[in-house]
Amino acid sequence: MKNNKVYRLFLLKGNRKNPADAEQMYVKRMAADQPKGSWTDFHLPEPHAYLWLPERGADEARVDYLLRVRTWGRRWADKARALPGSRWALTDLEWQDAEAVRALAESFLLNLYVFDTYKAERKAAPELTAVEAEGVTAADLTAMRERAAEVNWVKSLVERPVSDLNAAAFAREMAAHLKPLGVTAKLWTRKEMEKAGMGGLLGVNRGSVDEPAFAEFIYKPDNARNAKPVVLVGKGVVFDAGGMNIKTGNYMDDMKTDMAGGAMAAGILALAAKQALPLYIVALVPATDNRLNGNALVPGDIIRIGGETSVEIVNTDAEGRLLLADATAYAHKHYAPAAIISMATLTGAASRAIGTKGIVAMRERWPEAMAQCLERASEDVQERYCLFPMWPEYDRELESAVAELKNCGSGVAGMITAAKFVGHFAGKTPFLHLDVAGVAYYDKDESAWRKGATGMGVRWIGRFLELWSKK
Ligand SMILES: [Zn+2]
Repeated sequence: MKNNKVYRLFLLKGNRKNPADAEQMYVKRMAADQPKGSWTDFHLPEPHAYLWLPERGADEARVDYLLRVRTWGRRWADKARALPGSRWALTDLEWQDAEAVRALAESFLLNLYVFDTYKAERKAAPELTAVEAEGVTAADLTAMRERAAEVNWVKSLVERPVSDLNAAAFAREMAAHLKPLGVTAKLWTRKEMEKAGMGGLLGVNRGSVDEPAFAEFIYKPDNARNAKPVVLVGKGVVFDAGGMNIKTGNYMDDMKTDMAGGAMAAGILALAAKQALPLYIVALVPATDNRLNGNALVPGDIIRIGGETSVEIVNTDAEGRLLLADATAYAHKHYAPAAIISMATLTGAASRAIGTKGIVAMRERWPEAMAQCLERASEDVQERYCLFPMWPEYDRELESAVAELKNCGSGVAGMITAAKFVGHFAGKTPFLHLDVAGVAYYDKDESAWRKGATGMGVRWIGRFLELWSKK
């Protein structure tokens, strides 16, 4: 169903609720032959709506304010989705804060996404056709649309159930999306995984009836500023039952989302390629489901990562780090990278620590200039993160009596010991680890994010790479 009407949303400041003021302002600012607005305050489907946006509080941090503005963008998208196929134009009458207008518009675009593949009736998504505001160009709107499209693509992968997206299908989907953007895609065979000694990925896959996948995506533009790549490593567990240490209660409900880190890595690479960033970037996504089968890993098993380091399995539900370790070991050996960034829905500890409000981050040997880029990028896109330490004392948590390492610690600081485990395979490479377990998937709407897959982190690390490319 296509709706030809263009709905206009006018932005006004503060808490005034007088429609006459808005009318006057509208007539004054806009050409006289434009249709007059009627005050609806979101009472749709009137053709015009006014949105009185809150002003920034005296003590309010800029980033907090912009996140609040994004929450309005989500509400606006909720209203617009009730009008399938509707087209929208945003007009700033008096707000005059280009960054905030962009935040509002981008949030709208991000929140239009709905996972409706399995619905009988699939409604046409609304569109944002114009943003009329000082300091916001048509190119800005195009860039926002492109960024939102990548984030929404990531969401669409995260939402898909394992019956529809097993490891091989996941790898193929990512390759099909990335190749037209100029990215080289290598999908490994099992033989190649065996040759590289990927005992983590192959070990976890023993519990599956499906083949594992290892996807290697290379974006290397001619004008790349870095000779050594930045390597993104993303966990691609397409379903996590926990293996023999099976998940109990409702902990298994949303485990189709356990490949969110892998989708995130692919989404970040897609964004970089679309923006034609002059950076050499590689994304590695090891993928399998973690289930129970006759020959599944059991506690006490000892596997080898990268064909070398022996690891005692103490809990088969700590499987993501085994895949990430294989990929990290390969990245370190094969690419000698400038940096490794791993990303994963890895631990319940991360979401217990800071809930659903941000990404848990840990890093080692991370250069100060790059730390500044991370911080600035987070503020620019209003995606939050919180740093946790990687003190050497935590290494003791991973000491095994029978192998060089064990795959999880004593149960405290689980997000840190998981990061330590993966980081062990990064050698001396600057290493950043992002635990998105608390934020990849929301049970309910929260501030700027709709319930379901969030794609959080794609814009943050995407922006970070953009800043890095200018360093
Ligand atoms: Zn698990």
